[in-house]
Amino acid sequence: MTLVQIYQTLLKEYGSQGWWPINNDYKKRNSLTNEEKFEIIIGAILTQNTSWKQVEKALNELRKNNCLSIKAILKTKKKTLAAYIKSSGYNNQKAERLKIVAAFLLKHPLDELQAMETEKARKLLLSVKGIGPETADSIILYAFSKPSFVIDAYTRRIISRIGLCQKDVTYEELQEIITQNISVDVSLYNEYHALLVEHAKRYCQTKPICEKCILRTLCEKNI
Ligand code: SF4
Repeated sequence: MTLVQIYQTLLKEYGSQGWWPINNDYKKRNSLTNEEKFEIIIGAILTQNTSWKQVEKALNELRKNNCLSIKAILKTKKKTLAAYIKSSGYNNQKAERLKIVAAFLLKHPLDELQAMETEKARKLLLSVKGIGPETADSIILYAFSKPSFVIDAYTRRIISRIGLCQKDVTYEELQEIITQNISVDVSLYNEYHALLVEHAKRYCQTKPICEKCILRTLCEKNI
């Protein structure tokens, strides 16, 4: 099964996922305001090592306390920030990361990053403490609508079980395998990642539910 077929099968089954949700709203957007881009960046940091459900609670707390802006995050005490985002886990560490990223965005405003060439923006984001490849790619793809495919544990699990990569494939290797085999297209990258997440949650779980899986006839694990 090719990566294009996998995408088409998942899309047909689950439909458009409407990522990235903003203000708890899942819908396709043609453009984003700077406030929305900022919310995506904060969400991308908060979602490290936790589920999106917990991130939404943390984002709602930040919103409720008028703390979803660069200025507000910078002026709020780290302890208070950590209390707002408690639901997302590792909250002290994440509060520090939010402050670091807010300071970074003061130095490199959203409009500057938006205008930047993809690789340059990625490199710059990767230089920020607490931003690794997955977070950087999520920000570039979902906040700035630039083509940078997001790899996560779900992607690695599904694609390796299907037999298109090794279980211990590196981030960059898997990113290359995928991007070499699909078109460079922001909407496709956006939807594909979200669909893989959905599929991992529904069927390709730690203990996979192969008998009900829509990819089962083509999956190596199932042969
Ligand atoms: S058949 Fe099983 S291992 Fe393969 S993708 Fe489906 S759930 Fe995952």
